[in-house]
Amino acid sequence: MNKLLSRQIARLGSEGIESLYPKLLAEISSVYDEHENELKLLEHSLVVASDELNDRLEKLNEIKKQLETNLAALAAIFEATGEAIFAFDLDGRLVRSNCMADQLAQRAGLGKKGPVTQAGLVTAIKSEEQRRVLADAIVNEPVCEQEGILELSDKHAYEFRYAPQMIGDKQVGRVWCLHDISHQKSTESIIEFQAYHDSLTCLPNRALLNIQLKRLLQLARQSDKTVSILFIDLDGLHKINDTFGHEVGDSVLISAAERINACLEVSQILARFGAAKFVVVIDQLEAEHLIKEICTNILNAFSAPFYHNTYPFQLQCTIGVSEYPFDGLTPNAILGNADLAKCFAKKHGKTVQYYTSHIKDDARERVEIEAKIRKALEEDQFELYLQPEVLCESEKIYAAEALIRWRGEDGQFIPPDRFIPIAEESGLINAISNQVLKKACGYLKQWQQHGIDNVKLSVNLSVADISDNEVVDTVIREVKAAGVPPGLLVLEVTESLLLANKDTVKNSMNQLKQFGVQFALDDFGTGYSSLSYLQDLPFSYLKVDKSFIRNLSEDRRKQALVKAIFDIAENLELIIVAEGVEDQPTYEFICNTVQTTALIQGYYCHRPMPFSACTELLLSTTVSDVN
Ligand code: C2E
Ligand code: CA
Ligand code: CA
Repeated sequence: MNKLLSRQIARLGSEGIESLYPKLLAEISSVYDEHENELKLLEHSLVVASDELNDRLEKLNEIKKQLETNLAALAAIFEATGEAIFAFDLDGRLVRSNCMADQLAQRAGLGKKGPVTQAGLVTAIKSEEQRRVLADAIVNEPVCEQEGILELSDKHAYEFRYAPQMIGDKQVGRVWCLHDISHQKSTESIIEFQAYHDSLTCLPNRALLNIQLKRLLQLARQSDKTVSILFIDLDGLHKINDTFGHEVGDSVLISAAERINACLEVSQILARFGAAKFVVVIDQLEAEHLIKEICTNILNAFSAPFYHNTYPFQLQCTIGVSEYPFDGLTPNAILGNADLAKCFAKKHGKTVQYYTSHIKDDARERVEIEAKIRKALEEDQFELYLQPEVLCESEKIYAAEALIRWRGEDGQFIPPDRFIPIAEESGLINAISNQVLKKACGYLKQWQQHGIDNVKLSVNLSVADISDNEVVDTVIREVKAAGVPPGLLVLEVTESLLLANKDTVKNSMNQLKQFGVQFALDDFGTGYSSLSYLQDLPFSYLKVDKSFIRNLSEDRRKQALVKAIFDIAENLELIIVAEGVEDQPTYEFICNTVQTTALIQGYYCHRPMPFSACTELLLSTTVSDVN
């Protein structure tokens, strides 16, 4: 029997009931058993359910913790981001914003007239068009996303993006993110400015000039207008750089640019084309008289000296002019032709030159001559003629000057004044000078073999030779190779050469002087005639330029000048050489005027002649015994 039932029967004292109603009690006992089983089952399932609930609770607590961590991280990111974030509800009221957004709102005055709203943000957009488009989109396409760049009333530029805020399918608001790109924009514009402007003068550079010119030519083409180019080159800037340093050169350049600019109207373009080169672009009607006037004004602007501290510099400029469409159809063509006109002006001592097709021919001829010089160098076409220099009074030959001669393909001589400047410009002069030096030393050697051992031979050097340290090695090498006394070689340099690169020149000259070679200052009186240079550099001879000697016997002013030059030379203990003496009166005037040794070079005594003729002359006449 069920235990609980038998305990209850015992408590009631009805133990005999079992034998009275055995069936009934068995029935009741089984009900009890059944009930107890059910209770046990119930208990068990309660235990299981409570365990499960506990598990779930634990998991929920974990999730809660995770959520709290994530939310804290999100809040931190929300605040720490460089973007201004505004969350608006569907009515455009601000629900949430981060500190960047608050700063933006304050800067742009979004919350001035009440709480910050989406409508207020849109109103602060500077561009009316953009304001309208964004406001329309918010109303008409509530779930649309937009991005782009806008400027707000705080004058800052922003990269923006807005997107709907959704819960499932339901829109609950709209989030705006704005990223301030003002700094980036200003950096970009600085970079762009630098790419298209000259850093020294802040003028447009060559790249920008090309772009502007292309555009102007296009417009001119459509409207049948002309465009004029002034190509301006400052003369003498490199001398200022060499003598006083680049800083002084730079400040002079800036002043020069300012002076040119002051001659122009705002609509006219001034660009820096290169080192000392500027370009002016004028696209106006009736430009002809205007160009003349501007050129005159620019030249006048350079007549006053430039100053560094209180030190004055004189700077000149040369202008080449070309005009679209007559002188070229592309920026390159008209710029190139204005440049050619400028070069032509320089070569012919002019200040302004308009481009003509003749100038192009001249330039083409120069290119052709350059090619011919290369060939001549390869084929050893250059010859040396010698022109004796005689002593005053005795007329004995003291020296000879080696003068280059080049016979063109047609058999005609091409004068050195025509091709030497081209060789200098193209850098071929060094090769020419090397050949001349080699030949001259070879001639000295041959004279020695003929017993002529006291006639000097002078050779002309160019600016590129003497300002290049290599000349020292070349001269020493050729003199040694020929095995002749270095004292028989005289190197002639002109004053203008000396100014260009004084320290290098002085250094090279001193080294060669020490080796034994002598120097003559050529064309004296045509350059700066700076006496301090004369004193500073190891010259032995002073050659008075032909221009002072021509018509000397008839020109009293020239006579006074020549006397003064002779005095200087004598005081500096230099031997005078008068070149270009063509007649007896001139010869006599010179010989009567000089106090010390003087040499005469000119057609009156001897014309330049081939080496063989000169050698014969030397062998047949008495030569000087002065050394
Ligand atoms: P330069 O050094 O002044 O040479 C003297 C020039 O005067 C020579 O002209 C000569 O022929 C000329 N001459 C001589 N006597 C008289 C005269 O009585 N009357 C006149 N009217 N002229 C006279 P050239 O040979 O035509 O040379 C011209 C210039 O070319 C030279 O002037 C010199 O600067 C340059 N040159 C000549 N040969 C060389 C060379 O080998 N190398 C370099 N770098 N330049 C040279
Ligand atoms: Ca000479
Ligand atoms: Ca000369």
